[in-house]
Parts: sequence; structure tokens; C-alpha cells
Amino acid sequence: MTTAIVWFRRDLRLADHPALDAAASAHDRVLPLYIHAPDEEGAWAPGAASRWWQHHALEALDASLRRHRGGLQVLHGPSLDALRAAIEATGATTVYFHRLYEPLALRRDEAVRRALEDDGIEVNILNGSLWCEPWELATKQNEPYKVFTPFWRNLRPRIDDAHPLPVPSPLRLAALPRSVPVADLGLLPTLDWAKGFDEWTPGETGATEMLDLFADDAVGHYVEGRDLPARHGTSRLSPHLHWGEITPRQIAAGLRERLGRRRNGADIEPYLRQLGWREFAHHLLYHFPKTPTKNFNPRFDGFRWAKRDAHALRRWKQGLTGIPIVDAGMRELWATGWMHNRVRMLVASLLTKNLRQHWLLGEKWFWDTLVDADLANNAMGWQWVAGSGADAAPYFRIFNPVTQSEKFDPDGAYIRRWVPELAKAPGRLVHAPWEDEAFLKRSGYPAPLVDLKTTREAALTAYQSLRSCP
Ligand SMILES: Cc1cc2nc3c(=O)[nH]c(=O)nc-3n(C[C@H](O)[C@H](O)[C@H](O)COP(=O)(O)OP(=O)(O)OC[C@H]3O[C@@H](n4cnc5c(N)ncnc54)[C@H](O)[C@@H]3O)c2cc1C
Repeated sequence: MTTAIVWFRRDLRLADHPALDAAASAHDRVLPLYIHAPDEEGAWAPGAASRWWQHHALEALDASLRRHRGGLQVLHGPSLDALRAAIEATGATTVYFHRLYEPLALRRDEAVRRALEDDGIEVNILNGSLWCEPWELATKQNEPYKVFTPFWRNLRPRIDDAHPLPVPSPLRLAALPRSVPVADLGLLPTLDWAKGFDEWTPGETGATEMLDLFADDAVGHYVEGRDLPARHGTSRLSPHLHWGEITPRQIAAGLRERLGRRRNGADIEPYLRQLGWREFAHHLLYHFPKTPTKNFNPRFDGFRWAKRDAHALRRWKQGLTGIPIVDAGMRELWATGWMHNRVRMLVASLLTKNLRQHWLLGEKWFWDTLVDADLANNAMGWQWVAGSGADAAPYFRIFNPVTQSEKFDPDGAYIRRWVPELAKAPGRLVHAPWEDEAFLKRSGYPAPLVDLKTTREAALTAYQSLRSCP
């Protein structure tokens, strides 16, 4: 009788799980193990919103495993000690797990692999979350990509034939004499702040339901709908993808299958391309591991950020900047743990360009408050908006939040939903309430924290000085 350990990390699912599939087909029993070791992730251990998700996703995985007459086995770290304890308790000969791409996780996993192999244990590390490993795609000069379009051109033909794996059957599970209950990991917030998160259903089933919802309608209108924050025009699969409750391969195959069944000829290409950005972010993080904290473009090291402004930062976090679309986004984030992509760009632009606060400050706030906080995507997103990233927005692109709001939230439905002070604002005032002083006073909504025009000009001047840097 042979036993293998499957070390679950951010792959909290049973289907399309190469590590589980390989372990179940080569061994008599599988020990499904989760190790709680946030210290090993350093400054980028999951933030508060992510921990909320993690708690529920672990419970959902445990429930799925119980249907296979087992359960998720949970131990406290350090990871190597926990794995050794699990090996000793079960007599396991082999450990399987999926690769993570964050620098600290890569280093830890390599050390674990070496130590276990020295102990005589076989270790298999597989790709469980990307279409292609970051080193499998390179430019003609055999260098990592720094620009998205050629990266996507190379990746796109490789994703057509991918078939997701089914849940292994039979799945015979082993257990430890003692496992820590998920509730004892202390992942849930002590403040009653996550009430609004109940609209999410973490776990594999929740991910499939979300995909169904998206396939039903939104995918067919993705190109027009994806920029309108008042609508559910995007898939909202980001937290499910982050925690590995669904894979890009399952999404692509699932959309083709569902749309085919409904004879819905929707074009899924624009959506696949967006998933390509996620792959690109992981490619960048793997090849340029300092991007979460250092400017990707070193020219930006000389940029004149404004002095840290605690007051402005607090107003930005609280959704009290007096710029309606920005405040709507920041309040949506606080209430639901998620924010629409278009609005993420606008709030990031206000912080880094109009307020000229360092992008790291915004990146850290998102890290703590997003249920989909993801080191690769978050770092790329912030550096893209700040202009310091790979293939980033040009420095002179400083979003005007009022015209953006008029374009993408024309009747102000999104603003009215998240900023109740403006629920009854007439016409254009919902986008720029300061244009009528009497109305602004009556509404109880704050005056703008900054003048958009003068701060835009100041930012442009600061950015222009970069051009003369070597
Ligand atoms: C400042 C900033 C910070 C961001 N931080 C994060 C983050 O921490 N985690 C995160 O997952 N995304 C982040 N994004 C990217 C993007 O906003 C979200 O992935 C998207 O809003 C998630 O919603 P969705 O699942 O409905 O997206 P959809 O439009 O349905 O896209 C499907 C999937 O593609 C991927 N994707 C889409 N757009 C992007 C993008 N621009 N970059 C990378 N991947 C993308 C995501 O995995 C997403 O779930 C950030 C963007 C910005 C501008």
C-alpha cells in the first residue's frame, strides 16, 4: 500500500488538479494536506480580505473531500516540519504540489524539495495554475517578454487543445491522527467588516457557478460591458483564480462547452486575452521578482513623488476624496473586497498621478482589502497605472475621472449605488458635484481633495523631468 501527500496551497479544488490526479493514479492513498505558514510569505502573507476568502475556501475544500470519505488535513508550519510530520504519520513516499511563482514561495519550495529528497522522499512539482510556465515562453532573442502583445501572440496558439482533468476516481484518502480545524487558524476578521462579502461563494462550486453566470449572458457582451462598472459585465472570477478554485484551462473549455450547448456564437477571444494578462503578470513576476516593490523601469527611481500625505491617503482609503467615481470604487472595495477593473485604474491614477503618492502605498492597501489580492496582478496593475511598469500606460496618460465617469457610468448608476450622498444628484452633478456649491453643501458629500486640473499639470511636469533622466 503506497501513500502520497498532495500539498494544497493556492489550488483549492479537486478537478483539473494535476498534482491530485498524478498522486491518485500512482498511489493507493492520498493525504490531502494544507499547511498554514503565513510567516513564510513575509510581507506578502495574505491580507485581511484574502484571509476571509481563504477561510471559506478551505472549508469548501474540506467539504468536497468529505464527500470522498476523507477531509482536508491541516497542520501549522513551518512547511518542511509539517511535511516531515505527515510523512512520518502516514508512511508516505512521495509528495506532490503545484508551483507558486512568488519569490519567497519559490525559494521555500526549492529548499523543501531538496530537504525531502535528501530524506529519500520523491517530490513532484507541477504546473497547476498557468497555461504555460514562465520559462516556456521567450522572445526571439531568448529573453523574457516585457511587452504584452508579442507575449500573447506566442501564448495564444498553445491554449487551444488544453483539456481539463476530471476529479480523480476513485479517490482514496488518508488522514492524520490530528488535524487543526480550519476555524482555529484565526483567518476571519475580528471586526464585523466582511458582512458585504457574503455575495461571494468561495470554493470550487462557487467558481463554477460564477462561470455559469458569466457564460449565460455577459461573455457575449464582454467587449462593451467590461468597462461599465454599474453592470456585472466581467466574470468576477479573479478571487477564484487566485485561490486556484478554477483554472484558465477550465474556464476556456467551460465557456466553449457552455456556449456550444446553448448555440451561442459569442466570441470568447477578448476574454481569453484578458486571462492572457494574468499569465503575463506571472511571467513578469517570475523573471523580475523585485517588481512588487521596485520600479520595473529604473528611470522611475528618480521620480519626484510628493511627500507622503497621511491625510490624503486616509481620505482616499475611506472613499472621501470628493471625486465621485473614485469614492464609489474605494467604497465598493471596502464593502465587497472587490473593485471593477476600470475603476481600479481610476483610483490608482488619482493616487499616483494627481496626489503623486508612491504606487507602493496603493498596492499595499489593495493587498489588505481585495479578496483577489494577487502579487503578480497587483504589482503589474499598480506599476502599469503609475507608468513605471512593463508595457505601462504612457506617463502623459492621466485619467480625468470626470470624463471617465461620464463615459463609463453615464447615468451615474454605479456612483449612486456606492455614494448614497449623491443618489439624487441631478444630471452631470453626479460626476462633478462641486459644480453647484449649494447642491454640494446640501448633499453632505465632501469637496474635492485636489483640483484635478492643476494636479494633472503638476504631475505632467514631474513626469516630463523623467525624460531627461539617463
Ligand atoms: C491597480 C490595479 C490593481 C490590480 N490588482 C489586482 C489583484 O490584486 N488581483 C487580480 O486578480 N487582479 C488585479 N488587477 C487586475 C484586474 O483589475 C482584475 O483582475 C479584474 O478586475 C478582476 O475582475 P474579473 O475577474 O471580473 O475580470 P475579467 O475581466 O472577467 O477577467 C478575467 C480574469 O483575467 C485576469 N485579468 C483581467 N484583467 C487583468 C489585468 N489587467 N491584469 C491581470 N490579470 C487580469 C484576472 O485573473 C481576471 O479574473 C488590478 C488592476 C489594477 C489596475
